[in-house]
Amino acid sequence: MQNNNLSARDLAVIWHPYTQMQTAPAPIGIVRGAGALLFDEQDNAYIDATSSWWVNIHGHAHPHIAKQLAAQALELEHCIFAGYTHPPAVNLAERLLQLLGGQQGKVFYSDNGSTAVEVALKMALQYWDNKGMPRRNILAFKNAYHGDTFGAMSVSGRSVFTRVFDDLLFDVHFLDVPAPGNLDELIAHIKKIDPSTIAAFIFEPLLQGSGGMIMYDKTTFDKLLQYCAGEKILLIADEVMTGFGRTGPDFAMQQVSVEPDMICLSKGLTGGTMALGVTTSTNTIYEAFLSADKLKTLFHGHSFTANPLACTAALASLDLFLDPACKANRERINALHQSFLLTLQANPLVKNPRLLGTVLAFEIVTSHADGYTNSLADKVHAFFRERRLMLRPLGNTLYILPPYCITDEQLHTIYNAITTFLHTLS
Ligand SMILES: *Cc1c(COP(=O)(O)O)cnc(C)c1O
Repeated sequence: MQNNNLSARDLAVIWHPYTQMQTAPAPIGIVRGAGALLFDEQDNAYIDATSSWWVNIHGHAHPHIAKQLAAQALELEHCIFAGYTHPPAVNLAERLLQLLGGQQGKVFYSDNGSTAVEVALKMALQYWDNKGMPRRNILAFKNAYHGDTFGAMSVSGRSVFTRVFDDLLFDVHFLDVPAPGNLDELIAHIKKIDPSTIAAFIFEPLLQGSGGMIMYDKTTFDKLLQYCAGEKILLIADEVMTGFGRTGPDFAMQQVSVEPDMICLSKGLTGGTMALGVTTSTNTIYEAFLSADKLKTLFHGHSFTANPLACTAALASLDLFLDPACKANRERINALHQSFLLTLQANPLVKNPRLLGTVLAFEIVTSHADGYTNSLADKVHAFFRERRLMLRPLGNTLYILPPYCITDEQLHTIYNAITTFLHTLS
């Protein structure tokens, strides 16, 4: 296969995700990666400023992950996971549960973030059913994003993403995101629904990703979770994007006092190498499915459940994640982001600059309404593309979410380009 014409060949045969194919510029062909860089067919380097849709935490084509993966491929590439098991699945479950600490007792594997969410929702609803006290209501936050399959869309905020399907999605009660002073309002909302009918509350802890990199109040969130736990509402922490150090600590839930009943993981789980989803549960939830009655079984599974290659990539990614150098890198990025935040705060074209862990975000002031379809997005995307920076805004929300190995110099290149772009607007 020849190189140098990937994008033309692509357009003849491929339909891309989240892309208006009529107006979007032709895709750039990427042939290799190293660290925070991706290289096109002419060997031009692009800085991956958003970790390739937030999955790549250790940089591209990392040799440690690649070697483990290659060795596993020669050993066992796949195996049915009902009635059989294998070392990568068991090793990964042991290590993940240890890392998560607390009361997480079991790991259920699937393929991606959306499926991890689907599994958690089914576990929660069936938990109550199995116990003979069905609860059918579900709580979520406005503006939430939990994935693109129907269950995951149902618990996501109604938006341009879900519009065409809204009438087919199941009903969910949406709460405002926690803010200083709105706890009473949130609790009143839940009381009106009747907490004893609420099976579960699913949330992105502290940081809503696709909804626009919204960072919300930790203290109110913590108290809200305490109230829900008191009402025995099952807490599903969707850490698909916040997991593996993105918000600072290993997991965002380490910043609050309440433990979730279930945790969804994906994205950073394999370091961006293979598709893999995990839903963990407490033993209390697990035990509600144990019965001589087969109808109490969790009837869920995917062909590629616990794929050995994906589990191996996750184990290798964990090795890198647990190396103290990873935490040091996250702190280094956070410190650099902090000084750029001060520059942004002084810029009148910047609204609500904010920072959590390695995620820096802000809105660009425009005459149009904020939001995903804001027309500035295409202009922003094109500007950075020309400068070989992969920054894909969410509407007029611009954010940096880099691989932890990004260098200081690469970060400064991104900051400078953002500053230049803001100049072109003034
Ligand atoms: C991306 C994302 C998902 C969906 O994951 P996919 O692997 O894209 O299906 C779910 N929840 C959150 C918080 C996400 O950011």
